[in-house]
Amino acid sequence: MPLVPMRILLDHAAENSYGVAALNVNNMEQIQAIMEAAKETDSPVIIQASRGARKYTNDAYLRHLMLAAVELYPKIPIAMHQDHGNSPATCKSAIEQGFTSVMMDGSLSEDGKTPSDYAYNVKVTKEVVDAAHAVGVTVEGEIGVLGGIEDGHGAGGSGLEHVTDPAMAEKFVADTGVDALAVAIGTSHGAYKFAKKPTGDVLKMDIIEEIHRRLPNCHLVMHGSSSVPRSLVDLINKYGGKLKESYGVPVEQIQRGIKHGVRKVNVDTDNRLAITAAIRQVFSETPEKFDPRDYLGPAREMMKKVCIERMTAFGQAGNAGKIKIKTCKEMVGSYRK
Ligand SMILES: [Zn+2]
Repeated sequence: MPLVPMRILLDHAAENSYGVAALNVNNMEQIQAIMEAAKETDSPVIIQASRGARKYTNDAYLRHLMLAAVELYPKIPIAMHQDHGNSPATCKSAIEQGFTSVMMDGSLSEDGKTPSDYAYNVKVTKEVVDAAHAVGVTVEGEIGVLGGIEDGHGAGGSGLEHVTDPAMAEKFVADTGVDALAVAIGTSHGAYKFAKKPTGDVLKMDIIEEIHRRLPNCHLVMHGSSSVPRSLVDLINKYGGKLKESYGVPVEQIQRGIKHGVRKVNVDTDNRLAITAAIRQVFSETPEKFDPRDYLGPAREMMKKVCIERMTAFGQAGNAGKIKIKTCKEMVGSYRK
């Protein structure tokens, strides 16, 4: 099957009350790790690339790696998503490259750093919705501003400065027609999300519940949702790393979100940690090795394990074969209605 629109994966997740991990990639080994995890667990797949990732890989490499995944795993529905598009131009170029889903992050200005205003956000998001839906491509928008910085993108801060206002979220979805909505509930991008295990005053799951109450048919997206497992941080530091103590979003909080409309869960940091831990271990224990396969292989294996854990915990495991596939072309008709 070709790459599928993300919307059909999120619709199936909503009908069957599960969430789908959206996993970031920059290279071949990461794509392989995700696809092997999906095959082992029969999971639908959302692979996403940020602007930084597209620049790092070059679109042509990325496009062909994704085509290889489609060819090698014909039974697994795969959506390819632009993470944090900073402008309609970025989203349109992703669509030209074959992405089947785009995020227009109009919560920030085009510089990807300065918080914007509501009118700007609606204007750019609506422009992308019109262009994307005309070709059956899914659109994710964002209201509220996330914490931290990811690939140079983000306003920084703790994530609590611009928590999503549920009434605004309701209005934003009506004004733009997005398929999915990223909300700010105190999470941040990167490895340092919380100074201690997060409680309700820094991780506002109650806001998700309120937004879901107002928008029962909108697919919600949690960004910055790595769990930052202590075991991986410890492994990195054991083999010479210097990561500070840090806490991510506990898996049980994500599961609570999934009970309340969260269908897409962005996870990047956990996979980065897994890769780094495995490579450090090889370098430290067998310093005589110099064949990249000797450390990229274990890195891929460690990332695959994390992907399997998340796919299982979010409930997407066992669902790849159950999804009725629609192509982007077939989606065009349902958007017209
Ligand atoms: Zn994000």
